Amino acid sequence: MKTDIEIAQANEMLPIKEVAATLSLTEDDLKLYGKYKAKVDIKKINSLSEEADGKLILVTAINPTPAGEGKSTVTVGLGDALTRIGKKAMIAMREPSLGPTMGVKGGAAGGGYAQVQPMQDINLHFTGDMHAITATNNTLSALIDNHIQQGNALNIDQRRITWKRVLDINDRALRNIVIGLGGPIQGVPRQDGFDITVASEIMAILCLSTSLTDLKNRIGNIVIGYTFDRLPVTVRDLKVEGALTLLMKDALEPNLVQTLYHTPAFVHGGPFANIAHGCNSVLATKTALKLADYVITEAGFGADLGAEKFMDIKVPQLGKSPDAVVIVATVRSLKMHGGVLVKDLNSGENVEAVKAGFANLQKHIENMQQYGVPVVVALNEFTNDTATEIEAVVGLCAAQDVECIQTAVWAKGAEGGEALANAVVKAIDENTKAFVPLYVAEDSSIEEKIETIVTKIYGGKTVIYSKEAKNQLRQYKKNGWDRLPVCMAKTQYSLSDDQKAIGRPENFDITIRSFIPKIGAGFVVALTGDILTMPGLPKEPAALRMDVTEDGVVTGLF
Ligand code: ADP
Repeated sequence: MKTDIEIAQANEMLPIKEVAATLSLTEDDLKLYGKYKAKVDIKKINSLSEEADGKLILVTAINPTPAGEGKSTVTVGLGDALTRIGKKAMIAMREPSLGPTMGVKGGAAGGGYAQVQPMQDINLHFTGDMHAITATNNTLSALIDNHIQQGNALNIDQRRITWKRVLDINDRALRNIVIGLGGPIQGVPRQDGFDITVASEIMAILCLSTSLTDLKNRIGNIVIGYTFDRLPVTVRDLKVEGALTLLMKDALEPNLVQTLYHTPAFVHGGPFANIAHGCNSVLATKTALKLADYVITEAGFGADLGAEKFMDIKVPQLGKSPDAVVIVATVRSLKMHGGVLVKDLNSGENVEAVKAGFANLQKHIENMQQYGVPVVVALNEFTNDTATEIEAVVGLCAAQDVECIQTAVWAKGAEGGEALANAVVKAIDENTKAFVPLYVAEDSSIEEKIETIVTKIYGGKTVIYSKEAKNQLRQYKKNGWDRLPVCMAKTQYSLSDDQKAIGRPENFDITIRSFIPKIGAGFVVALTGDILTMPGLPKEPAALRMDVTEDGVVTGLF
């Protein structure tokens, strides 16, 4: 089997204008970034608002394991398979961050014969959205420091500035820094730090905004810190929401690319799935729904984090709930949830472990069914899976009244996803249930929302709050932030807040240590543990394998 980049480089792309034409987009509707990438003009997007929506398919997964699940791969492959069976399909997925690309992660453009193209551009600078977010975020930082330097009319307490600088590189040395050293003309010294760009609230805002006006309003709402009287200070107080929106104007427009099979795909926005909601932009998904009959989109991490946030944070902004949910699982990862160690994954058939690990998948199936949405399981095939192991998963899913479809898009591309495409279309056609939200944000307090998520989605018992969290809750009520949705920051590896509790843990408590208000994005983050917002590089970074030839050909990028 060739590597992802070798497969991508051997594939011939169509000019993006031709791909756009299949969606009835003309050259005037596009802003071309070379021959194979384009942004869709905001004017065109606005003109589509009265068009009917296509069907929305959300791809999510069981709790991730080191064995890998392949959500992005299945998302892309399902798009190609729907095209293959004659449907007008489009994909809407996240754009990767450069930090993890140079670090450990595989690419975020799918894998094998289910990839979006041009994968090397998408994984590197792409259309510059990440740079725009970085510049916007850091312009705000500079404006805050300048405000303090010029007399601090807003009475900002420099010890309570929560707005950090960002960079889209894993750079642990910048996590905690001191700025403004060198005397009065160099600024006012204070502690600061860098987060990775995708953790910036600007990224979350980009992904939840429905228009430029909405984007400006949300940027205005950002709380950058507190005054000496402990009152929140917003971007609107600094009067710079217009300038910051201007810097984001192009980044808001979705990026159009294609798959190896020329299925159109929006790759746009990529917020963290812990301190943010982990889905591509609302504007990309919304536009795709206007342009195609079937839109396949994905949410980060497992369904307890990604899909829950999709349903409870993104859906209200999107104004559309999924028509079907695809849960991706693999025999290998079910084995790991059943107690098998990574090193033993290739030591032969183990049906008992698969059956034990199924408990994790079962909980996610039940969770998605709570939302009243039809569920199909995609069993992403790996070469070492045995027929008996696969049969076991299919049988256990059938007992839950759910179809489990073997999916081979990684090895066989569109053809390998045909059965999944047919099953998803059938599930949508036969569905008679209506979407049931887990909670209505305006109708409940932060504590009530967290209790609902913990008991109904995680399967936990009670929620415990630290002293700091309790104090913050009191303050948030006073500030009027109590009615916002909650964005849970929890380990992705377990349904609980203990990453070692694999499978389906029960009778556990969840501890909320503290909260972070993301008022611009429009949610309150609840932290159950320490979340790293500036990753470090590993001992052997992926960067060591990368190179470029004299002719500009990229090598070693996955
Ligand atoms: P996720 O979206 O769940 O993080 P990805 O779709 O990005 O996962 O896939 C992670 C990695 O696993 C990619 O490098 C991809 O090529 C690889 N992969 C996915 N499916 C398979 C498969 N069926 N067999 C082998 N490798 C796979």
